[in-house]
Amino acid sequence: MKGVSISLPFGARGRDLAAMLKRAFDIALPGQCALCGNVSHGVLCAGCDAQYWNEPRLRCATCALPLRTEYTRRDRDDVRLHCTACLENPPAFNDTLALADYRAPLDLLAVELKFRGRLAAGAEFARHLHTLFEDSNLPMPDVIAPVPLSSKRLIARGYNQAWTIARPLARLLGTRANATLVKRVTHTAPQSKLDIDTRRRNVANAFQVTEDVRGKHIGIVDDVMTSGATLDALARTLKLAGARRVTNFVALRTPQD
Ligand SMILES: [Zn+2]
Ligand SMILES: [Zn+2]
Repeated sequence: MKGVSISLPFGARGRDLAAMLKRAFDIALPGQCALCGNVSHGVLCAGCDAQYWNEPRLRCATCALPLRTEYTRRDRDDVRLHCTACLENPPAFNDTLALADYRAPLDLLAVELKFRGRLAAGAEFARHLHTLFEDSNLPMPDVIAPVPLSSKRLIARGYNQAWTIARPLARLLGTRANATLVKRVTHTAPQSKLDIDTRRRNVANAFQVTEDVRGKHIGIVDDVMTSGATLDALARTLKLAGARRVTNFVALRTPQD
């Protein structure tokens, strides 16, 4: 489109326009299942809800990575399973609850939430995370907070997708939520484009805690957990500020790096 940015709606940009209209319709028609398009009162229809949630996955209790046969137990009293990486080099957070792997078709739900403004998907994730928490033996967090966006990204997107999960989740748990408990103090490059070491360096000093967290159990919420570098850096910052325990609540977990 170099140089010819003024074009008629149905000219060369017709396809873009069609895509735009489709997105607008998708948002305007919440009566459709986000995954299969069938008529639905909720974000997902009953069929997709039953089919795609409740993945029978063994996950590492610390980082929620799916475990295959190489899993190991910490000790006899602790029946929670951990991946080798977490046993050898524990991250700063204590636990992670994840609903499912980040892959088709549920990844579409995260995309709808993050890029297409389908905020109801946040409440849907929250509902399932609440159930997962109820089934776990984890203690109740004192406060729930989202992974913060930089102010630059927040302005560009208009909302923090993690907060659309964190707020209803806190309500369901009956605990407090604080959208600005942690602030991003540097604008970091999007993590998705970086390798793991660069990801770690990228977020090492990215956060600042804004309330007294000494002795508290903090629940951190995000839509997608990929390498865990962001959550590790965030938990490290919270622990340095005196937090006793950090539990991550993530909707979807990337199976491997
Ligand atoms: Zn469906
Ligand atoms: Zn792990």
